[in-house]
Amino acid sequence: MNYCLRRFFEAENLEDKRDYVICDKCKTTHPKGCPAVKQFFLRNPPRVLIVLLKRFKSYGHSLMKNNEDVDTLEKLYLDDYVIIDGIKL
Ligand SMILES: [Zn+2]
Repeated sequence: MNYCLRRFFEAENLEDKRDYVICDKCKTTHPKGCPAVKQFFLRNPPRVLIVLLKRFKSYGHSLMKNNEDVDTLEKLYLDDYVIIDGIKL
């Protein structure tokens, strides 16, 4: 589960989509000198978190199911994914 969370919250490089990305700071497309990345953070970690596992991957026009076991945890530590006032915990 920790691996799944880490993958979900990791930064995604959008350099190849730069023409379609609007920079949060510049408010324009084609930001020059600004990194074109997307990353999710939590602002208010929930007391109960419902996790939906993405079990299918597309290969062209077909889907392949991922049957890998995923260990669940009694407690999740979300500190690495929380941001408050623009600052990571
Ligand atoms: Zn920018």
